Amino acid sequence: MGEPSQDSLDKMWKFAKGFAEKSGTTFHPTPAVTEAVVKGLAMHVEELGKPLCPCNFYKDKQAEAKLRRWICACDEMQIYKYCHCLLFVREDGMPITEYLPEGHEGREVYGVITDPTPDKGRALRHKAAQPEAAAPANQDDQRKP
Ligand code: SF4
Repeated sequence: MGEPSQDSLDKMWKFAKGFAEKSGTTFHPTPAVTEAVVKGLAMHVEELGKPLCPCNFYKDKQAEAKLRRWICACDEMQIYKYCHCLLFVREDGMPITEYLPEGHEGREVYGVITDPTPDKGRALRHKAAQPEAAAPANQDDQRKP
């Protein structure tokens, strides 16, 4: 695997810093984690023209890059504020999982990790999977004193 150009690296660092700020997340306390993900994103910018998430396996990268879902910041980040690459995390290095649907791999691996800045990020929160609708409230009960 080659090295991305300084130009692509600079572009992705700028994006990552800006998105962390906007989403109320921080970089991992181990700088090598962040550096590896930013480098992977920069490699994809050069290879595909888009910052496809570097932490997944794709059968067809070109086809995947045409879809929006794994272009950084991916759908999971924009909807649930969860970054499985650990690029956008809390100050303690943990990924935010509290908004993920139950049964999601992130919840299985990390448990419930709360969001310290719930007022920031999740631009696509309206797309979050809705939990099973609760049984409708009994109207009669509501009318009782
Ligand atoms: S998981 Fe999403 S937000 Fe995190 S690096 Fe990959 S594409 Fe970006």
